[in-house]
Amino acid sequence: MRTLALLGATGSIGRQTLDVVRSAPDKFTVAALTARSNADALFDLIREFRPSVAALVEEPAEIPADVRFCEWFFGEDAAVQAVRAAKADDVLSAVVGIAGLPAALAALESSGRLLLANKESLVTGGELVTARAAALNKPVLPVDSEHSAIFQCLQARLGNRVSRLILTASGGPFRRWAKEDIDRATPAQALGHPTWKMGPKITVDCATMMNKGLEVIEAHHLFGMPLERIDVVVHPQSVIHSMVEFGDGAVLAQLGLPDMRVPIAYAMGYPERIPFGGERLDLVKLGQMTFEAPDMARFPCLKMAIEAQKAGGVMPVALNGANETAVAAFLRGVIPFGGIARAVAAVLDGTENNAVTCVGDVYEADRAARRAAQALIDQNKI
Ligand code: NAD
Ligand code: MG
Repeated sequence: MRTLALLGATGSIGRQTLDVVRSAPDKFTVAALTARSNADALFDLIREFRPSVAALVEEPAEIPADVRFCEWFFGEDAAVQAVRAAKADDVLSAVVGIAGLPAALAALESSGRLLLANKESLVTGGELVTARAAALNKPVLPVDSEHSAIFQCLQARLGNRVSRLILTASGGPFRRWAKEDIDRATPAQALGHPTWKMGPKITVDCATMMNKGLEVIEAHHLFGMPLERIDVVVHPQSVIHSMVEFGDGAVLAQLGLPDMRVPIAYAMGYPERIPFGGERLDLVKLGQMTFEAPDMARFPCLKMAIEAQKAGGVMPVALNGANETAVAAFLRGVIPFGGIARAVAAVLDGTENNAVTCVGDVYEADRAARRAAQALIDQNKI
């Protein structure tokens, strides 16, 4: 029986994680559940899973009597405090955005393993998180489907050199759209992902292909792979979740239907595989798989993310902060879809690159990027 602290329990990944817990109640108990503001949804999950620790960033007017048995934390660092109090075997972070970075670092200190869906913590604090994990000898297990696929393929590595990682991308809802139409896409159009059902921020990131850029950075940190040896290939069926190429040219791939419960359950059970009752892949029904090169001209965010990581220092932090701010503005209907890439480009242009030596440097660069992006948005400059 493993104890699990789940951060971002009310979101897309959070709910699917609890689905895996439901299917294997003899293997997992929930020690902590946290969310940002969706108090009623969190209360319902607490009633079902009865964790001893709970947290909400936004404190509600009242905590119902039947969920007061939890030790409660509120405020910006509520998730960090919950992680420390829960001392769980595993922390699964399904928080969205850089907001997940402090909790990821806290999880390494006070729990056994970090199961990471929150890619933004690696994009912004990759060196810090991986260095801390190595120093404390704590595993960081990927939940993101591409990285889980690579991690699964790497089980067959047996000490051999990996020559290349190949990340697959669905291409998103605008894969075949002309640039002018992409620029004018509405939130409703951007939120209609063809193969995966996810939270709003990552869904917009998939539509700009910023998500794949963030994932290249994530893969670089998780697997210690130089950027030149990480490729992206568009594969609209989302059945091959990613691949690893070895020195002899052999390519291993992990396949399955697009169901996030597979990588979630793999991280939770690792090294044991947990059958959770999901639908199985039928290759004959699928019929064919196709592949194409990503178009960096229509999807400049992918290129900007790779370039930002090549530049290093605070640039990936600035990229992420500008993107989070711009995506939020797009979802509020304040800027056009094309404005996301323009805001990120403008913020990167105006950012002086400095080294990141501590987590304070990350937060400072993040605040500066958000301020710069917000100023551009407020002045209607994008
Ligand atoms: P979501 O928006 O559905 O859920 C986010 C959760 O985090 C919610 O429970 C919310 O209350 C909580 N949260 C938000 N801001 C917070 C804050 N400041 N402090 C504490 N909690 C906060 O998002 P999601 O789609 O589940 O994605 C979560 C993370 O997993 C993201 O980093 C995303 O990139 C990654 N991811 C998601 C998917 C997917 O299929 N949804 C796949 C791969 C990776
Ligand atoms: Mg992914």
